[in-house]
Amino acid sequence: MRSWVEVSLRQIRANYRAVQDLVGASVEVMPVVKADAYRHGAVEVSRALIAEGAPWLAVSNVDEGIALRDAGINARILVMADFLREDREALSTYRLTPVIHSLEDVAAVRVPYHLKIDSGMGRLGTRCSPEQIVQAVTSNTNAPLEGLMTHFASSGNYDSPQTIDQVRAFERVLDAFRQAGSLPRYVHLSSTIAIAYQRKEAWGNLVRPGHSIYGYVSPSRGTGAPPSALHVAPALTWKVAVLNVKDVETGALIGYGGIHRAARPMRIAVLAAGYADGIPHRLGNRGQVIAKGKFAPIVGAVSMDLTTIDVTNVPELRAGDSVMLLGKEGKVSIDAQEMARTAGTISYAVLCGIHARVKRVYVDE
Ligand SMILES: *Cc1c(COP(=O)(O)O)cnc(C)c1O
Repeated sequence: MRSWVEVSLRQIRANYRAVQDLVGASVEVMPVVKADAYRHGAVEVSRALIAEGAPWLAVSNVDEGIALRDAGINARILVMADFLREDREALSTYRLTPVIHSLEDVAAVRVPYHLKIDSGMGRLGTRCSPEQIVQAVTSNTNAPLEGLMTHFASSGNYDSPQTIDQVRAFERVLDAFRQAGSLPRYVHLSSTIAIAYQRKEAWGNLVRPGHSIYGYVSPSRGTGAPPSALHVAPALTWKVAVLNVKDVETGALIGYGGIHRAARPMRIAVLAAGYADGIPHRLGNRGQVIAKGKFAPIVGAVSMDLTTIDVTNVPELRAGDSVMLLGKEGKVSIDAQEMARTAGTISYAVLCGIHARVKRVYVDE
């Protein structure tokens, strides 16, 4: 294989348990498997999570929900982001639970639904007043409101009042339902960051972890930012085959644009993956990989299908061996957060950027 990822379903399950243990038995856990489970493979990851006890899964759109149903996945599935008119029939056919984002859609929905409140993120969700919201929900006698939810914009930033403001705005809506005597079964606000940094006032009775299921918690920042209470580890290792190893002389130029000039006689290895596989182009002359348990710098530009590394210090590396883009070997490791920092992006984008042509292999199931 040219390039592949090894996904540890055992680690996915352990990460799920870590979330469940942290939030406690009174809070249900709905792992987020959108974007093909952050490229870990939605079907296999979902099966592992259900085996571990996950009652719900969250996806982004109806197509992702249908793919899970077609694979025989039976858990409840929440469709978080889209509510396109053409998708409405599929919701009941495939027993998918939509998140509704406007009061017009509340009036039109015919299946149990969750309602999203825009409590201050300024993206999806209704911004209507609590009274208008309760009025719209109780007027629709065809479909029950099963959950009330919101999403935070900056829950890792302890210098910003935005999360506290969002919790308050959400609680005003919750109070209106309480007063009307019609609290929904589920109340949920938290993704990984609010779980890991224990914003317990935002846990409700259901949480929506994505990143942490795959082993990541973004750092918090600001005055009084607590450490993460969630102990998870990456489940994915990304490997790539070495196509060729060769020695070049002082002054040799490497790759497109000749942006690297060998300052000494150097040994380079050519890797069978490039930006078309998801290696960020910005890693050119900047990133590194792990070769035989040692860091080896990326030299020259990252090409579409190829990447060149300096293996002068790894004389035992041969064509046909593999090196690691993400993973851990001996004492050396590179995770998606580190790769993202070097590339000027975020770990979510690194994971979601791993292209479909990169094969997936499941290990220690
Ligand atoms: C993606 C998403 C999540 C999961 O977020 P993580 O940071 O990956 O844990 C939760 N809720 C909503 C609405 C999302 O879009």
